[in-house]
Amino acid sequence: KQSWMSRLKAGLSKTSANLSVLFVGARIDDELYDELEAALLMSDAGIDATEYLLEALKRKVKDDKLLDAAAVKVALKSLMIDLLRPLEKPFVLGRHQPTVMMISGVNGAGKTTTIGKLAKHMQAHGQSVLLAAGDTFRAAAREQLMIWGQRNNVTVISQESGDPAAVSYDAVQSGKAKGTNVVMIDTAGRLPTQLHLMNELQKIKRVIGKGMDEAPHETLLVIDGNTGQNALTQVKAFDDALQLTGLIITKLDGTAKGGVLAAIARVRPVPVYFIGIGEQIEDLQPFDAEEFVEALLG
Ligand code: GDP
Repeated sequence: KQSWMSRLKAGLSKTSANLSVLFVGARIDDELYDELEAALLMSDAGIDATEYLLEALKRKVKDDKLLDAAAVKVALKSLMIDLLRPLEKPFVLGRHQPTVMMISGVNGAGKTTTIGKLAKHMQAHGQSVLLAAGDTFRAAAREQLMIWGQRNNVTVISQESGDPAAVSYDAVQSGKAKGTNVVMIDTAGRLPTQLHLMNELQKIKRVIGKGMDEAPHETLLVIDGNTGQNALTQVKAFDDALQLTGLIITKLDGTAKGGVLAAIARVRPVPVYFIGIGEQIEDLQPFDAEEFVEALLG
């Protein structure tokens, strides 16, 4: 079985091929910087992060009097690590009983899969878990969560066509009564009228807070690492509406262009708790800036 690093590497290879090949035997001139700019933009780093990295790199090359391309690559790596480091934050469960986690994300981002992975991760660390099917609009979403719960011995609180805020409130109460360690609340990723999604999520968040002080203790957004600058748009919109405490970026084993993390770091540095690197239950890893840059730039 491939190690997760090699899968991450393979996933980012489209970008890293561009970014690392570029330096091989290259002269340090405008052409190199132009190619680097193009490669960074192609990796979905966005204009802001790309310009920032290029400026910082040029300054470093000058200040440190770097003369060969290999040294420039090392310099870029260290600038990239510095840029991404603020996104690194280990996920730790607080003192709350239960810790309530609200999990949002647009349909298809990998939310349900990620909730499954997270539940397993918690259980492996001796935590009892309760799930709430807060996406009451899609019967399929509810069923998927129920089936998953049965298979993994995790209780799922669900109500047919119930009010998502009420289901979430019930789950918190139930978690309190049972002494559960972690309550994870799945939410809708799309409503019949998209316009109301943020209002709906804000309502769920408010109602959870009525069920327990300081809850939700974690407000997470799951984003698909393949959606490029769209991922950044989602981070901004969900953070504006919900004040996110963390991100989970999925599908970095696919054809992802990891540059989007640089864009997030520059524009909206919400911590990245985990990255998804496959469809299997164990394919979830804490985000580590150094490992990530190593996979991206080789
Ligand atoms: P939801 O609509 O947000 O709940 O998305 P799902 O959890 O149903 O996931 C959508 C698709 O993405 C499924 O086919 C998942 O197996 C897949 N998926 C989720 N996370 C990952 C990941 O980290 N890597 C890969 N390769 N696929 C993933």
